[in-house]
Amino acid sequence: MNIPNTATTLVARINHDYCVSCGACVPRCPVNAIYELNDNFYIDEYLCEGLCGQESSHPCINVCPVDAIYLTLVYPS
Ligand code: SF4
Repeated sequence: MNIPNTATTLVARINHDYCVSCGACVPRCPVNAIYELNDNFYIDEYLCEGLCGQESSHPCINVCPVDAIYLTLVYPS
């Protein structure tokens, strides 16, 4: 029997309207989910754990000087 995956996942994303490509978030990610490509920074949603494992804070969100990182729910496709 095939049971559809309806679980949602909490992930962090970068709003590129605000991001100034400072790179401060990269070393703060405990799972190395943030990467740079062509001077823009992105978060790999397959690596991002949203809640950073056991941590209640979000290191990437807290370090961003322009509040460009936000959390969102991702629904299975
Ligand atoms: S810390 Fe914020 S402004 Fe800097 S690269 Fe990351 S998302 Fe962009």
